[in-house]
Amino acid sequence: MDYKKYITVVEDWPKEGVRFKDITTLMDNGTAYKSAVDEIVEYSRNKEIDLVVGPEARGFIVGCPVSYALEVGFAPVRKEGKLPREVIKVDYGLEYGKNVLTIHKDAIKPGQRVLITDDLLATGGTIEATIKLVEELGGIVAGCAFLIELTYLHGREKLDGYEVLTLMQY
Ligand code: IMP
Repeated sequence: MDYKKYITVVEDWPKEGVRFKDITTLMDNGTAYKSAVDEIVEYSRNKEIDLVVGPEARGFIVGCPVSYALEVGFAPVRKEGKLPREVIKVDYGLEYGKNVLTIHKDAIKPGQRVLITDDLLATGGTIEATIKLVEELGGIVAGCAFLIELTYLHGREKLDGYEVLTLMQY
């Protein structure tokens, strides 16, 4: 499917010079959203996935329907202060300042095979931080799946050695 026709490119948002890829117009279309989820499910079928993990908030939009279809669990990665029980955390750099991501300490059992999902791969910082959390808990990253890849930001280079699926490239 040509998914790009369902993505709205918003100029100068959230700041000047950025061409934001808005996936809400893809989600709005039941056929396109289902097709995108189905492709990620098919990609994951032979990977013996035990758990899907995605960073807030758009990682949930991609990951939760995939976990439902694979009949495995979903574990959320969230910003600091959002998860109610004991967490592990990781810091990662942003263009300005830093961000902290957390996951519940008991969300992954050692040896579980994990699929990581997000809407978009840009510089790869978010996914690299998510991988650190998964591996610190003993999970095995069996694949990473995104709707969109911004190839000019070279996020894939941070994912060397990991299996990566992206449905659209800009
Ligand atoms: P990265 O950490 O630089 O790879 O940025 C990826 C994260 O930023 C993802 O969690 C995305 O949701 C978000 N993001 C960055 N640019 C866009 C965009 O154009 N559209 C939607 N999300 C974006």
